[in-house]
Amino acid sequence: MNLEPSEADEAFRATIRAYFQTEYPQDILAKLANGQTLDKADLVASERALSAKGWLAPGWPKAYGGTGWTVAERFIFDEELERAGAPNVSPMGLLYVAPVIYTFGTQAQKDRWLDDILSSRTFWAQGYSEPDAGSDLASLRTRAVRDGDHYIVDGEKTWTSNGHYADWIFCLVRTSDEGKKQAGITFLCMDMTTPGIEVKPIITIDGGHHLNSITFTGVRVPVENRIGDEGLGWTYARHLLNHERTSYAHVAGKRRQLEALREASADAPWGDELAREGSGLRRRTAEAEIDLMCLEMTTLRALAPLTNGEAPGDEASIIKIAATETAQTITERYLELAGLYAQPFFADRERADWRAGLEDIPAFAAPGTASYFFTRAQTIYGGTNEIQKNIIARQLGL
Ligand SMILES: Cc1cc2nc3c(=O)[nH]c(=O)nc-3n(C[C@H](O)[C@H](O)[C@H](O)COP(=O)(O)OP(=O)(O)OC[C@H]3O[C@@H](n4cnc5c(N)ncnc54)[C@H](O)[C@@H]3O)c2cc1C
Repeated sequence: MNLEPSEADEAFRATIRAYFQTEYPQDILAKLANGQTLDKADLVASERALSAKGWLAPGWPKAYGGTGWTVAERFIFDEELERAGAPNVSPMGLLYVAPVIYTFGTQAQKDRWLDDILSSRTFWAQGYSEPDAGSDLASLRTRAVRDGDHYIVDGEKTWTSNGHYADWIFCLVRTSDEGKKQAGITFLCMDMTTPGIEVKPIITIDGGHHLNSITFTGVRVPVENRIGDEGLGWTYARHLLNHERTSYAHVAGKRRQLEALREASADAPWGDELAREGSGLRRRTAEAEIDLMCLEMTTLRALAPLTNGEAPGDEASIIKIAATETAQTITERYLELAGLYAQPFFADRERADWRAGLEDIPAFAAPGTASYFFTRAQTIYGGTNEIQKNIIARQLGL
């Protein structure tokens, strides 16, 4: 693999960098630089700005609205987006369900859903997990019973990220109890405004509302909302999960976080711990940098052969483990640097003046602490890291 950027790559980088410096909505960058959290309107504005350039779905095949960029160009784009401090796209529609729709959906489903996702007109949620079906996902019990041209859906999904923002949800539902557990599962998309769907918030340890519990009571879903064949949902679900697990890499975002850690250390009122010879924090930060370089190489090796929106193979599990453990290592360094100030206080960071009364506390401490707590979840969601190790042992024979 030749990692030296070509002249064309450098020119591409300059174009993308200039875009984020001038054309991209600067108010969103300012909010994030101020440590604020974003709401749905911000995410929509960000995605619509990228969509207007045709840059919202670089990983999709060109025929469906992808950019046709090389792997190097996609990598550069991600690097520049994260370097600018812009938010990542909301993944459930663009990165998770869209590849299932364009790979297994009918023409009518592609026409109906892909364009809305590509223009950020619809947000999606992922309804896989249930109260008694997480790692053992095939035990799921949300049931869909056929009634003419509809399914009637009853059950509960949980830990649904951004379910309160979603216009649509894709769910795994049980349509049969015959044979293996995996065989009776079907992939169904539901309009969140359908009567019988109720969304309740789950507040996480960082104080944020990211997650939800969603109940379905007698929800009537047209059969035309089913992707592929009844009973083959498990196949589509695994395809989706390999896209999901690869998407966790966020190499450039992690590099940016490490740079910001250095800046925070240099500005810390108690002195620059990262510049101090023999400092444990300095050594552990260097180790995190090495982990990040390994993650970058592994991700590039896995993605290099995939040039037209194909699904990565089970090596996605290796990326998932490396990416999430590195993410946790980095946020632990923030917590160490913050020291006494790393208390889990939940400032209302939707407000521009969230630091009022907290001026004595270094600016990085509150967002860094919240990020540390939320990042604990990374080794759980998308399939826990223990489950990824099982997949690596069984499927890759490592
Ligand atoms: C922040 C967050 C966001 C999420 N977002 C979504 C979402 O949008 N949509 C969605 O559907 N789900 C979502 N989830 C759910 C997530 O996918 C599940 O939490 C995850 O699959 C684990 O399931 P569980 O919580 O039931 O834990 P369990 O499956 O009960 O696991 C408990 C522990 O046992 C271990 N374990 C279980 N089985 C095995 C085994 N066979 N071998 C070794 N160890 C094992 C696990 O690794 C874990 O440590 C989210 C979760 C979190 C925390």
